[in-house]
Amino acid sequence: MHFSELPQQRDSGTRHVLGLSGGKDSAALAVYLKDHYPAISERMEYFFSDTGAELKEAYEFLDKLETWLGKEIIRLSTGREFDHWLRVHNGMLPSARQRWCTRTMKIKPFERFVGEDPVVSYVGIRADEHREGYISNKPNIKAVFPFVEDGIVKADIFRFLEETVGVPEYYRWRSRSGCYFCFFQRQDEWLGLKENHPELYERAKRYENNKRERYDLDLARKSAVGSGNYTWCQEGSLDEIVARAEKRRAESGVIASTADGARRWQDLLLEQEEDDPEDQACLICSL
Ligand code: SF4
Repeated sequence: MHFSELPQQRDSGTRHVLGLSGGKDSAALAVYLKDHYPAISERMEYFFSDTGAELKEAYEFLDKLETWLGKEIIRLSTGREFDHWLRVHNGMLPSARQRWCTRTMKIKPFERFVGEDPVVSYVGIRADEHREGYISNKPNIKAVFPFVEDGIVKADIFRFLEETVGVPEYYRWRSRSGCYFCFFQRQDEWLGLKENHPELYERAKRYENNKRERYDLDLARKSAVGSGNYTWCQEGSLDEIVARAEKRRAESGVIASTADGARRWQDLLLEQEEDDPEDQACLICSL
């Protein structure tokens, strides 16, 4: 059954939700549905799971999109900042293996938002990518993939956005939405963070150097554990990674260095390799 037939099939108590990450694909999906499936768009509840650590460009883009859609984008959050959750996790920085950030700060607020209601969730995976997976396993949530069903590919996404709300500015130097310190960033993207948001880069570096504290019940005192050398990336500290990216750029050039204006950054982005397969379970953050 085509996704557009679901609203008719389901009773009026079914909710229709679309999670906006601040990234291009979910935004393009909202635009596409409003243009091509207005009856669905009319019933849609848009939401954004906010970690409080997103780039200001993402918040600005969401404001713009909200105006264009003419509908509120509901901001969900845990009510606590990243630092609180970091303490709860004993100072252990999240990583691809220990991705507590996504579950705690993005998925749980989403699951609270939908509760036990029957829900259709619209997900912006495209027809030309091979990402799978969903953000929640709750049985009352049915995910649908309109771009896959309608054969919408990357070039279409850019067209939808350029004709309406535009492409988020941070794509000049970053290939994904999400937290400024996201450990999924590539080395070039850390360099982009340093150049575009030096204060956030410094903040991310401070997290690296934090020592963890453990409360010892027997001795009734706190003690430091770990070496203080935690990093966001397996390949080394942020400064080491950025130094490598700078060296590579000096040798060959990367997308962030196209300031000569010879080619539009949107076109370069369009030609980039397919999305990182490691993003599989991170749809709510980066789609
Ligand atoms: S964007 Fe990255 S750091 Fe933020 S919640 Fe998602 S996986 Fe975690």
